[in-house]
Amino acid sequence: MGVRRRIGPAGSLIDVPGNNPRRIGVLGGTFDPPHNGHVLAGIEARDRLKLDLVLFTVANDPWQKTGVGGLREAGLTRAELRLSMVEAAVEGHRGLQADDLEMQRGGPTYTADTLIELEGRYPGANLFVLIGSDVASALDSWIRPDEVRRHATIVVMDRPGHDGGRPPNGWSYELLEAPLLEVSAIDIRSKVGSGLPIDAQVPVGVADLIDQHGLYGAQR
Ligand code: ATP
Repeated sequence: MGVRRRIGPAGSLIDVPGNNPRRIGVLGGTFDPPHNGHVLAGIEARDRLKLDLVLFTVANDPWQKTGVGGLREAGLTRAELRLSMVEAAVEGHRGLQADDLEMQRGGPTYTADTLIELEGRYPGANLFVLIGSDVASALDSWIRPDEVRRHATIVVMDRPGHDGGRPPNGWSYELLEAPLLEVSAIDIRSKVGSGLPIDAQVPVGVADLIDQHGLYGAQR
């Protein structure tokens, strides 16, 4: 298991002009669909880590999920629509922002590339990669893990139902100690397909888009 560090002194929002964020969280995902679990994680990370900005980066091709039996088989929602859902999910939440840089880059989505691009966009900023405990133990399978380590601090969020998942040996990380929600995209897709309500799991704007586009077998 990796080495846990204490969360360091927080940066100050007051000292930082809005267009020059110094502490930036990167919450990458497939977001098919985004849900209240993602939004709460973004809010808690923003507040507890004193982040100026939390970017919800929409994966163009989440290659680890679209593999055998993954979302490709089930039908991954096109990236533009996943981006619209993320924009709807974060709307009105200070500092939370949808980002399409991985879609613009195209191809399979590698976090190492995303971090390098963000360093160019926000020179000198501290980057924090926010991941759920369900994916923490798989960090070694990421492409160019050394670059991920070098360019960002890993922050693990204990996702209910996946408590205790931690990075492998060799990874330093911080733990976000916050009560999070037990909700998953797969559960929402399944509920929609079965005609069950999802109001408690997704922001209203996301539910509207699922409805309008008949996603996940939604009856229109
Ligand atoms: P699926 O159910 O299709 O696997 P998901 O709900 O895990 O999807 P993703 O878009 O794959 O959603 O998640 C992106 C990131 O958000 C991952 O790091 C994941 O661990 C994290 N995450 C997802 N759901 C939660 C949650 N309820 N609380 C905290 N983090 C979460």
